[in-house]
Amino acid sequence: MGGVPVKHHSKGKVGRRRSHHALKKIKLAVCVKCGGPVLPHRACLQCGNYGPLEAKTAEIKPKKTTRKKKEEVVLEAKQEEVKEEGEVVAESKEEEKKSE
Ligand SMILES: [Zn+2]
Repeated sequence: MGGVPVKHHSKGKVGRRRSHHALKKIKLAVCVKCGGPVLPHRACLQCGNYGPLEAKTAEIKPKKTTRKKKEEVVLEAKQEEVKEEGEVVAESKEEEKKSE
């Protein structure tokens, strides 16, 4: 069986209880980078920027492994350039032979 109210709650009693039921407004800030709305202490959903300064996202330093990889990529690119030049030289020699 359902509970039956033992005593009458006055309007004042109900009002005092419900005085804490109001929802609070969400405080939004403006993103420095893109100008969109941002929740405090959260990264921007549009661009990923965090904090009042734009530089905070750009301060991430690359790890040593990534630097080595970059050097390897540069070396590979140089080797490819050399190969391409060698191919070009070989092709030009063949053309010279054909012309003769
Ligand atoms: Zn943003």
